[in-house]
Order: sequence, then structure tokens, then C-alpha cells
Amino acid sequence: MENLDIIIGREDGTNRLAMLVNGTKKQAAGTPNSVPMTVSRLKPDQMTGHCRIVTQGNDVWIYNLNPQNVTYVNGEPICADGSFPTQLSAKDKVQLGYPQENNAPYSVNILSALKAANWSADIHHLLHVWKQYDYDNEKIDIGQQRMNAMQSVTGILSMGATAALFVPNPTIASLRPVLITIALALMVVFAVFRFRKGNMGPVQKKRLNEQFHRDYVCPCCGQFLGNIPGNELISLGKCTKCGISYAS
Ligand SMILES: [Zn+2]
Repeated sequence: MENLDIIIGREDGTNRLAMLVNGTKKQAAGTPNSVPMTVSRLKPDQMTGHCRIVTQGNDVWIYNLNPQNVTYVNGEPICADGSFPTQLSAKDKVQLGYPQENNAPYSVNILSALKAANWSADIHHLLHVWKQYDYDNEKIDIGQQRMNAMQSVTGILSMGATAALFVPNPTIASLRPVLITIALALMVVFAVFRFRKGNMGPVQKKRLNEQFHRDYVCPCCGQFLGNIPGNELISLGKCTKCGISYAS
């Protein structure tokens, strides 16, 4: 996966949004004069502009490039002299230049900029998340089945012991205290087991699903990717929610 260095600015003359991606100028976007003069000019020869977006794996960072100008992330101006970056997600609102009269600062759609720069996110870690979810799900199911099996065995044994209490046969009658003890012991053992492990199946499943919803998300837009297996997502080649490309 290639790391990108994207410099964004206003294209001189056309006043459209332009960018340099790893030093190469891309076709400017938008209609002429759609970018106000408050956005700093892109200067390809000096490799500078209004702001710089740098990607490292799935991490995206933004720097302000012109100390006389301003870049806002979610309404807050970021470090003006560009000495340190601000981490970005596709959900963040990025605006360039000081507000003018009644106009809000110019908004840049980060997702569109990343797409235009051919950025692709890496989702290989999701293969592991998917596998682990499958495995944990199965483990909970097996635990649940064991609990059910144990419950029925205990039930049968206690019933047998109780039934033995009513058998008039003297040999069995002499065993009554033992049988009662066994029946009670089984009930206590099962009650303790159940108390300790609890009927945790549904609770564990709920927790597992919550965790899965937090982890099985697009690294770009952060949205849950649904029940599409990781390898299918990679062969789809892009996010079904935001459309960003996925590295193969
Ligand atoms: Zn996405």
C-alpha cells in the first residue's frame, strides 16, 4: 500500500480545487471560481499550498502549510506553522481559509480528496476479526450445548434418585440416605455451576456482537461492514458504505 503525500490548494487562474499527489499535479476539481481567494494558492514548483494530507497505512494526517492562513478540523484551527499534524477521519469536517463576511470557510470533502488521490485502505486485519468472531460464536454455542446436556443429565439422575425413595424394596430402602445425598449433591453442584458460569450464552453473544460491530468497520468511514466475510470485502475492492478502495 502506497503512502500518499497530498498538497491541496487553489488553482491559480481557474480558482478550482487542485492537488499534488506525491509531487504530481492532478486534474483540478469543481467549477471555475468555486474556491474563494481565502484558500491559499497551490504552488507546484514550490511544493506548497494550503494544507497537506499525509497517509500512513490507514492513518490520515493533515498539516496547515501557510502560517498566514488557517485550516480548520471540525471547526477548530489546527497548528498554523505546520510543525505538527492533526489526525483525520473521513467523518471530520475540514475547512480552509478564514471566513469572509457572511460566508463560512471553504469546505473540503476529505473522502472525495482521498478517492481522487487513489488512496486505498488496508482491511487485511478484518480477516482476523471475522475469523475470531466465528470462532467465539461457536465457542459460546458449544458452551451452551454442554450446559443443556448437563442440565438434562442432572434432571434424569435427580428424578431417578427421587423415584428410588418410593420403591418398597428393602435393599433399595437401605440405600435411601445415600440416594437422597446424591440427588441433593447433584442439584447443589449444578446450581453452583450454573451460578458461576451462569446462563451466559445470550449475554456473551450480545457482548460478542457489540464488540464485532465496533471492530468490523471500514478503516476509512468507520461504518460497520455487515455480515460480508473479510475475504469477500477484499475481492469487492471497495467499501460498500463510503466507496473508498480497499487494497488487495
Ligand atoms: Zn467505508
